[in-house]
Amino acid sequence: MRILIVEDEAKVAEDVSAALQSAGYVPDIATDGEEGWFLGDTEDYSAVILDLGLPIIDGLTILKKWRSAGRTVPVLILTARGNWTERVTGIDAGADDYLAKPFQVEELLARLRAILRRSAGHAVSEIVVGETTLDTRQMRIIVDGRPLNLTPLEYRAAAYLMLHNGRVVPQHELSDHVYGVDELRDHNTLEVLIGRMRKKLPKDFIKTRRGFGYVISESDGVAT
Ligand code: CA
Repeated sequence: MRILIVEDEAKVAEDVSAALQSAGYVPDIATDGEEGWFLGDTEDYSAVILDLGLPIIDGLTILKKWRSAGRTVPVLILTARGNWTERVTGIDAGADDYLAKPFQVEELLARLRAILRRSAGHAVSEIVVGETTLDTRQMRIIVDGRPLNLTPLEYRAAAYLMLHNGRVVPQHELSDHVYGVDELRDHNTLEVLIGRMRKKLPKDFIKTRRGFGYVISESDGVAT
């Protein structure tokens, strides 16, 4: 899943980015408000971590611009500790959650998992489709009680499809959420990845809707 970090403090941005990477996400960093607004407006992210105090355009203005343009991406704002008016204004402007600086990255990751689950319509950290369970906390996929041995790319792709189970996910959307902006990719790369995943996941778990994309669904996903 791609996550946008809009943060002008290099150290904070890099720490958050490293934590997100090791948690299996694909982070992009914007270091000023203009770049942050632009990326959030034009790229497809699963969530945004948005600092409020930013050069060029402040975080609150960015959030209002995205929301009035109909962008529903979940946004976690970073606020100054003790500044409750900032938090209230931020939530009123459409933030999904907030975290006061300085914070522990573990808390950031937990809050991020929660807003991602809520945005996908799930309230728990485990998503079950047939005999397959996605555990977003442990970052693993369990089939019949046995955790699969997936590479980070395979996990990212499978987790994204499971979070959106029942919906056909177009190839370009899946590929956006699996690979970083700067990573080289094409249709074949994704097809090869899906091919490898199919050998590990239950038979017919990932279905191809030719010309549309991939789908995981419980109704017709389990071979009888
Ligand atoms: Ca700042």
